[in-house]
Amino acid sequence: MPSEKDGIMIILSSPSGAGKTTLVKKLSEKDNFEISISHTTRQPRSSETQNQDYFFVNETDFKRLISNEEFLEYAKVFNNFYGTTRTPVIDKLNKGKNVLFDIDWQGADQIKNKKLDYKLITFFILPPSKETLFQRLSKRHMNDNLIVEERMKQFERDVLHWINYDYVVINDDLDNCFSKINSLIDAEIFDGSKDYDLNFIRNHINKLTS
Ligand code: 5GP
Repeated sequence: MPSEKDGIMIILSSPSGAGKTTLVKKLSEKDNFEISISHTTRQPRSSETQNQDYFFVNETDFKRLISNEEFLEYAKVFNNFYGTTRTPVIDKLNKGKNVLFDIDWQGADQIKNKKLDYKLITFFILPPSKETLFQRLSKRHMNDNLIVEERMKQFERDVLHWINYDYVVINDDLDNCFSKINSLIDAEIFDGSKDYDLNFIRNHINKLTS
C-alpha cells in the first residue's frame, strides 16, 4: 500500500539527440535517486553494459515478458522493443527510493494512464534549435545521413507530445538544464515555488516546429 514515505517517479522523455540519457545519469547521482533499467531488443552499443544500461534480450524473451504481464509499460521505438518491468520499480518506490525513467512518450503516456498511487513528475527535454539537434545527431551517428535524416523526421513527430508533460526543459547547456530540472523536482517534493515560464516554452516549440 503506497504511503507518504514512498519514493516518487520521475520520467524524462525527449526526441532523440536532446541529451536526456546524460541528464538521467546525472540526476541518479542525487541522494536516494535510482534509474529504472529497461529491457530492450536493440543491440548493445560498444559503450553499453548488459544489466547496467539495459537488459538486452531477444524478441522471444521480450514477448514472453509481455504475455506474463510483467511490464509496467512497453513500446516499439525505431523498430526495437523497449519496456519497464513492474516489480523492480514498485520495490524501489516502496523502499522510499525515487525512480528515474528514461523512456519515450508512449511509455510516459502508459505510466500516466495507470494512475498509480505514487507521485509522478514528467519532463520533456528539447534541443535549443533544430540546427543543434542536427549537429548532435550527425556526431552521434558518425554522419550516417540516412539515420540522421530519419531521426530529424522523427523529431518533427515526437516534439508534438510536449503538451502531455508537466514540464518542458530546453537542453541548451547540460549544467544549466540539470539545475532547472533539479530545482523543479525539489519544488515538487517540498512544495516550493516553481520557476517555469510556459509562454517561453510555447514560443520555443513554435520556433522548433516552424
Ligand atoms: P536508445 O536506443 O537510444 O537507448 O533509446 C531509444 C528511445 O527509447 C529513447 O527515447 C529512450 O528514452 C526510449 N526508451 C528506453 N527505454 C525505454 C522503455 O523502457 N520504455 C519506453 N517506452 N521507451 C524506452
